Amino acid sequence: MKFYSTKERAKKVSLKEAVLTGMPEDGGLYMPEEFPQLEKDFFDKIENLSLKQIAKTVAKKFLDDIPSNIIDEIIEEAINFDAPVKVFSQQIAVLELFHGPTLAFKDFGARFMSRLMAYFVRSTGKKLYVLVATSGDTGSAVASGFYRVPDINVVLLYPSGKVSTIQEKQLTTMGSNIIPLEVDGNFDDCQRLVKTAFVDRDLNSKIMLTSANSINIARLIPQSFYYFYAYAQLKKRSKALVISVPSGNLGNLTGGIIAKKMGLPVSRFIAATNINSTFTDYLETGQFKPRATIKTISNAMDVGNPSNFERLQDIYQHSVDDMRKDIKSFSFDDKRTMEAIAEFYEKYKYILDPHGAVGYLGLKKFMEENRDKNLTGVFLETAHPAKFLDTVQSVVEEKLEIPERLKKFLEREKKSIKVSREYRDFKEFLISMETK
Ligand SMILES: *Cc1c(COP(=O)(O)O)cnc(C)c1O
Repeated sequence: MKFYSTKERAKKVSLKEAVLTGMPEDGGLYMPEEFPQLEKDFFDKIENLSLKQIAKTVAKKFLDDIPSNIIDEIIEEAINFDAPVKVFSQQIAVLELFHGPTLAFKDFGARFMSRLMAYFVRSTGKKLYVLVATSGDTGSAVASGFYRVPDINVVLLYPSGKVSTIQEKQLTTMGSNIIPLEVDGNFDDCQRLVKTAFVDRDLNSKIMLTSANSINIARLIPQSFYYFYAYAQLKKRSKALVISVPSGNLGNLTGGIIAKKMGLPVSRFIAATNINSTFTDYLETGQFKPRATIKTISNAMDVGNPSNFERLQDIYQHSVDDMRKDIKSFSFDDKRTMEAIAEFYEKYKYILDPHGAVGYLGLKKFMEENRDKNLTGVFLETAHPAKFLDTVQSVVEEKLEIPERLKKFLEREKKSIKVSREYRDFKEFLISMETK
């Protein structure tokens, strides 16, 4: 299968090029040239399949130029944790996506992408440098995903003094091929350094660079796997499925839409947003108006200009009416989110994180508006509540257990390399690594 740029459909590239470059030079985003269809037999027996088995089948549809046994290996390593559905009522279930090493759904994308990149790098005989500017969570999922992956070094740039303690520990205590640079500046400085490096021809002639941000197609593909798996787990009670996705950059939602386009029977997706409601407003008015980001308690969804909107536009060929047939969107403020965490605990003795709580609110609102007994609702819980301990414990009395895999980071010693915000210094550092 080939991949095209949303800015120029005619120009197609291989999966290898799409994955290693991350983004087309024309500023668009890569999309698969078609949505491969899954056979009827797959859906007939899906309830007997594990997440890994489903992932292998789906991945092989997109990665048809990679040997089948290699894809099996990539999935075995990358998707080595579960994504269980828990049912609370006829209309409310949760799909838990936080069982990976960094306790957030971004583990799916990061782990899969890292192994796919490693496979492609192997054939070049070179070392690949993955540059990531992070203000927190993306960096830890990427660092963990690439940890000890051969022939790849990850250079993480984070703003000194501007990430939380637990986030900083997750970024700086891994060692091995994960190199944390503590930048004397803010997040924008980190981004500027990375962006400058990508367009620096001299540097790019010396070392092979790529980015691991959320627009890489290799992060999107694995984000379709668990939608099939949710259906597999709910199939016997389902009726028509409604899936609510807590959304920021819309990458998770796009993964779901891809699953639907491949044949997954989903009646409706809900894009649940916090008050950064650019996408909600678009579906309402037909006008896409990016805005400055507003800080909320569901901070991984604080996005004023969602990058995957471009992909959704491409899928629906710029027709807001067609998009509305598949997607509904609601936005909720922090007060409602806090109330939802308290309410859900009260009702089901289950602790939501702020992102999952927004997803729950979206599902609940849709179900109230559509009193249809044939609907089965599921929302995605994208992070473990322990990652947002202070917020959650302010409304839930029960003491939250911190999972071991989070705790172990706190005990380790921080090891970062301090750098200035000057591009010259950053470049020199990168070149010195290559010659080491
Ligand atoms: C990144 C993230 C989201 C938003 O996902 P998008 O793909 O950007 O829409 C939601 N919840 C959590 C916990 C996240 O880390």
